[in-house]
Amino acid sequence: MKEIILAKYGEIILKGGNRPRFENILLNNIRNSLKNVAKTSIRLAQATVYVDVEDEGKTDIVMDRLAKIFGIVSVTRAAVCEKNIEDIKARAKEYLKKDFGSGTKFKVEAKRSDKQFPYTSPQICAEVGGCLDDEYPEIIVDVHNPDVTVKVEVRDFAAYVYAEENKIQGQGGMPIGTGSKATLLLSGGIDSPVAGHMISKRGVEIDAVNFFSFPFTSDRAKEKVIELAGILARYTSKINLYIVPFTEIQLQIRDKCPEEHMTLVMRRFMMRIAERIARRNKSLALITGESVGQVASQTLAALDVTNSAVDMPVLQPLIGMDKIEIIDRAHEIGTYETSILPYEDCCTVFTPKHPTTNPRRENIEKSESRLDGETLIEAALAGVEKIEVYPS
Ligand code: ATP
Ligand code: MG
Repeated sequence: MKEIILAKYGEIILKGGNRPRFENILLNNIRNSLKNVAKTSIRLAQATVYVDVEDEGKTDIVMDRLAKIFGIVSVTRAAVCEKNIEDIKARAKEYLKKDFGSGTKFKVEAKRSDKQFPYTSPQICAEVGGCLDDEYPEIIVDVHNPDVTVKVEVRDFAAYVYAEENKIQGQGGMPIGTGSKATLLLSGGIDSPVAGHMISKRGVEIDAVNFFSFPFTSDRAKEKVIELAGILARYTSKINLYIVPFTEIQLQIRDKCPEEHMTLVMRRFMMRIAERIARRNKSLALITGESVGQVASQTLAALDVTNSAVDMPVLQPLIGMDKIEIIDRAHEIGTYETSILPYEDCCTVFTPKHPTTNPRRENIEKSESRLDGETLIEAALAGVEKIEVYPS
């Protein structure tokens, strides 16, 4: 039986005058994401994207891709019917067979956007419900508490039947490209990939910056960051990853700054360098993975010191989340297993024993003034490696 995928989108239908532009962005994102996966034909109507998969056997992988595209709230397979009630009934009987068992409670819901269709929505429900009831004597109509909700949609170009319960949930959010660009400080840890996912879910395109301290951190640590960017790219398409050589800065900080200030001075350098890279690439904000109180460098006083190094909004979407909630998210988006691989991050190599938890800006700035900041930043920027990371 001919099947099609229905991908429903959510929030962009509320966007008034911007809706057509946002719908086009969503369509382009879908086309890009499926380009190398399967041959498909795609059209859009009534807050639904209809994806016809022309390559045999590729439907599941296409559904998986669609479920990762921001803007899409649900994805389901549906049977394609001719636009007459007899064909709809015949296909419903056959298509829903696998969903019905002994004692299954069901109801039918119909939507009709083609007002020329000779049956109203309540009439369609009665026709299809009656016919299923006749065909499967062991199932029971229950409109209040159904196990299976049979959906019938009569559109301009065809009609569709599916069981609501077979829907898979999409990401929701807004399509990438509807919300400018931001630059993610991506470490190899658990938090920053989740932070990047959360902001890109709001439609923001993402570049990533990683600070790398060779030889204190190994090439395997770099591979890990590339791998994390590849997982994020499943949701965002390509990510430009900038790897910044950070060893010289860390060594100078270690040699010249008081040990308890090391972490914050280092964080401020990261922010400044990320800000320069962001401006060059027309990013409007930085994204980091901090959460209040998680570690010494994430007290409110410490966050003030870190963020005041730059003149650009710093988005910290995990700020009010507990570690457990962040870990749950990391599992959901698929970054957790990679994040916990045991390769050293550049920060852990230079972590002081007693970091200050209640720092004052002036004290940290005084420590910082022992370094030739501008020269160090220029040198780091000159050594940046850009990697284009594709969905893994
Ligand atoms: P994560 O799990 O993201 O590593 P964390 O809990 O280890 O976070 P910190 O080490 O305090 O936190 O870092 C705070 C934030 O600074 C990170 O979430 C990340 O955005 C950024 N950051 C830290 N180290 C790096 C790095 N080596 N490269 C890029 N960004 C970094
Ligand atoms: Mg970390």
